[in-house]
Amino acid sequence: MRGIAAVPSYVVMQPTTLCNLDCVYCYLPLRAADRRMPVPVAEAVAASVRPWAASGRFSVVWHGGEPLAAGRDHLAALLAPFGPGVEHHVQTNATLIDDAWCGFFAEHGIRVSVSVDGPRDRNGERVTRGGRPAYDRILAGVAALRRHGLPFSALAVVSRPEPGLATELYDYFLELGCDVLGINIEETEGVNTRTNARDAAAVTGFWAELVGAWRRDPRIHLREVEWSLRYAGAVLAGAADDLLPRRLDPIPTVAHDGSVVVLSPELAGFTDPHYGDFSSGNVLTTPLAEILAGAGRTPWVREFLTGVEACRSSCPYFGFCGGGHAANRYFELGRFDGTETEHCRNSKIRLLEGVLEHARDHESPAA
Ligand code: SF4
Repeated sequence: MRGIAAVPSYVVMQPTTLCNLDCVYCYLPLRAADRRMPVPVAEAVAASVRPWAASGRFSVVWHGGEPLAAGRDHLAALLAPFGPGVEHHVQTNATLIDDAWCGFFAEHGIRVSVSVDGPRDRNGERVTRGGRPAYDRILAGVAALRRHGLPFSALAVVSRPEPGLATELYDYFLELGCDVLGINIEETEGVNTRTNARDAAAVTGFWAELVGAWRRDPRIHLREVEWSLRYAGAVLAGAADDLLPRRLDPIPTVAHDGSVVVLSPELAGFTDPHYGDFSSGNVLTTPLAEILAGAGRTPWVREFLTGVEACRSSCPYFGFCGGGHAANRYFELGRFDGTETEHCRNSKIRLLEGVLEHARDHESPAA
């Protein structure tokens, strides 16, 4: 895997910067402001996306802020230019989902992913602007999805990973009814400056327990665990080099104003005296395809690619990780050409160690 691909597998769109919640660990800098994406931004992105979608599966992920805070009429106007052949997804806090939104999702074929951190007492940091727990409103949104028979994914932030928690979480999500689950260990990112340094054994134990919980009842596609097991299987088969893509997926994030940040959506909306605003261009003046073709020349991206090469030559986990995320390097190390971060320790290294710990503890010795 070297360099950045010119064609992404998906695009992240920010229909509004606004979020109606104010979660304690949120990284978004503009979540109190309602800066909406004008329709010409969506039209410009769609012009580049159409040929990509014509030659294979292509997704647009509507992220925020809270994308539903843009309202159905505005979101419909932003969706319209993409036409058929593009899969749409929303990442939502679910608090605004009602019957009318469910009808909207069904009408537009939108796949929903809900942010929820587990049972009520694990959601204390997901709060309204007034500081009140959002849990009941989240569950009301999930209930609406279930009432309408709409499948949904879930994304959980885990702030204190430790043994004893993983089984509780996994059982909760089985009961909730999601068919895909992603687990994000809280990250030091954006305006969230809380440390994410964690005890190594506790994090490894958390992942090991999660593997065990999933193996007992693997009804949910558990993103991190399935990827780890695929990697472990490829290592055993001598095919680990084939797993990573040949080039990094650029994952363009198109902000409300049309500016494009590649590789890490979390960098959108930030500026730095040295790196500027991290954008590689704006779709209102340059086609997205052209921006991506030149993204590797953006100074911070070049620095990041140097860091990926440093990972490749120094880290035994590179074949699994591929060099980590740009935003974690920037927000933890203040630069892009470093290597190990707390994020990669928590979410890559200890994840893989947890899978191995589970295997050591549960596989019967060879005869
Ligand atoms: S685990 Fe960390 S140090 Fe290793 S390749 Fe990934 S980002 Fe780099």
